[in-house]
This record gives sequence, C-alpha cells and structure tokens, in this order.
Amino acid sequence: MRDIGLYIHIPFCLRRCAYCDFNAYADPGLSFRRIYHDALLTDLRSSALDEDYRLRSVYIGGGTPSLCPAAWLADIMDVCRRTFVWPDAGPEVSIEANPGTVTLESLRSMRQAGINRISFGIQSLDDGLLAMLGRIHSRGEALQSVRWACEAGFDNVSADLMYGLPRQTVPILRSTVREIADLGLQHFSAYALSVEDGTPLQRALASGSLSLPDEDEEAALQQVISEELTSCGYRHYEISNWSYPGYECLHNEIYWDNGEYLGVGCGAVSYLRGWRFPRLRDVREYVRAVQAGEFPAVSGERLGDEARWRETLMLGLRRAHGVDLSLLGQRFGIPVEKLWALWNEVPSELWVKRGTRVALTQQGWNLSNEIFVRFFM
Ligand code: SF4
Repeated sequence: MRDIGLYIHIPFCLRRCAYCDFNAYADPGLSFRRIYHDALLTDLRSSALDEDYRLRSVYIGGGTPSLCPAAWLADIMDVCRRTFVWPDAGPEVSIEANPGTVTLESLRSMRQAGINRISFGIQSLDDGLLAMLGRIHSRGEALQSVRWACEAGFDNVSADLMYGLPRQTVPILRSTVREIADLGLQHFSAYALSVEDGTPLQRALASGSLSLPDEDEEAALQQVISEELTSCGYRHYEISNWSYPGYECLHNEIYWDNGEYLGVGCGAVSYLRGWRFPRLRDVREYVRAVQAGEFPAVSGERLGDEARWRETLMLGLRRAHGVDLSLLGQRFGIPVEKLWALWNEVPSELWVKRGTRVALTQQGWNLSNEIFVRFFM
C-alpha cells in the first residue's frame, strides 16, 4: 500500500485578517458556501484513487473550516470514507479552527464526525495584538475554545502562534506561550509574520503607523517560543513545530517526506505519481468547472529526478532528525558519496552528521533559507 495525505480546502472566513494573502474569502453568505460545499463533495467523489493508495491523513484547512455547519463536516467525512481506502486504525483527521467560530456543541459534532485533531489559529493572547492583526477573536475566546475542545474529547490539540509582530515584546510573547502551554496542548506551530503586498498591514507599515521588530528583536522572540516550549517538555521536531512525543503532525510529515498528497477544493495542490498540479485557485471558477463536469485543475508540472531529490533533501532538513542520505540515494538512484560531497561547502557549525543521517543545527535552522539557496538549489 502507498500512504497518501488528503488536503481539503474550505476558503471562507468571517472576514479577512489584516495580514492575510491566503486563498481565503470574507464570508459570501450561506447560500454560496453551500454551493461550494456541494462542488467540493463532487470533486472528492471524482478523485477516487487506485486501490493501492491508503489515506494516512486528512487535513481540512482554509480559510476557516470551523465555520462549516456540523452536518457539512459530517458529509465531507462520509464522502471521504466512501471514496478512499482507510487504514484499519483510521487516518489522522485534522481540522483548522478559529476561536470565535466554535462552540462546545460544534466541537462535539466534529469529534462525532471522526475528526480527531484540531489546530486553533490562536496567534497571540494579547488583545491589542489580536486587534492589530484583524483577528476576529479575543484572548478569552481563544482560551475558552481550547478548553471546550478538550471537554469535547479532543486529545490532540494544536495552536498556531505568530511572532515578529509590530508592538510584540518578549514579555508579551512569553506570557502567551506560558499561558497556552499551561492548558496542556499536544502541539504548537509558530510562524514569523510575513508581510504581503496589498494587505492592510502592509499599508499600515508603509505609512509608518506601525513598524516591525528588527532582525535581533525577531530572533529574540523566536528564541522565547523555543525556550518556553522546550522547558515545558515539547520537542522541537521541525523548524516551525513543537509537540509532545507521539503527537507530531502526520499530515505535515507527508509534505516533509516529499510524499504523495491529493488536494481537493479551490487552489489545493496535489502531488501524485511525480506530477504536481493545483486546483483552480479562484473559488467561482473552481465551482463553475466542477458544475460543468470538468476536471477543476490547471495543468501541472512533472518534476525531474534532480528537482525531486533536491526538494526532498531541503524538506527533510526542516526536521530535527534530518535526512538519511543513504535512503535518499536509494530512493533517487544517486551515489551516496555525491550527497555527502554537497556538505563539504557548508560551514561545519550549521550541520551535524549522525551515522547515515545529516541534520541542521539550531544555527543551521536559523539560516536554512540561505543554506538551501546557496548550496542545494
Ligand atoms: S483566519 Fe487565516 S485564512 Fe482567514 S483571513 Fe485570517 S489569516 Fe486569512
């Protein structure tokens, strides 16, 4: 059997956050969301894979999938069960949720539908920062949502945090991380703010009404997250992710292994049998294509062996345990000496060799983009 991940995109949010340039739309109203839902189910049913593919994970992302009525999530899960081969123990099934869009009852319905992992977009517990980011929730709603998730029976809960924000200080961030970690979540992701053209945040920065922390301040903020989470027993298992042992995100591990995945919903990307292809990005074009019985994807690219092994190496180096160069060589038919020779040029303090594996050090992780561009592309 070949394990595969399934990503399902729900692109609607109550409103757009000030920094967002994801493929997401402010709520167009229930009737168009219903039309999209029906198209999504059609697309899922048409995406059955060969019998030798087995779903290792399902990830319902967005957007704000927790805006979906409970019955729609149950529909999605039902179609997935009927369309794809499931492992005996069932796949990891994650949903992205935003505080302010869940209730104890809706969370119970998600568990009943078979969703067994939830990832909250908390970002910060500082009400001033949440307002500056244009998030819809308050600190109180964030904490309440996590407590409700635990009460509803979720025992695999993750929180997304952001750092490098205007006006974010080390004490503010430290208190956010401590307070969330005290709730006993199993998993954390932390991402630096990325300022995208055309967003309200970018305009506020350009006008001078807000300013970003400098490079040293951002590094100090990143360090706080790592320190606090590590001291609470979380393992920094990937550049941007921490978990208790055994709670690593299986779905993301497929991406970091450069494994195969199917993406359904507008803009979702698939990587199957060496081909990478996205679904139509525009939600209305996507719906029109599905309704017309067309395959709602744009033509993809077939990656050559050279591109695939380099990509697999770079993705693997995001993980704490790095990459087994012997296995990488076998997978792509490359002499292992050639793979080790790449490291001759990389400064020794940026990487470590552990048997047949190579991994980046913390310093290497901090400079990973430069390492990838300079040595491996
Ligand atoms: S919740 Fe996420 S996807 Fe939705 S607008 Fe905010 S950042 Fe964008």
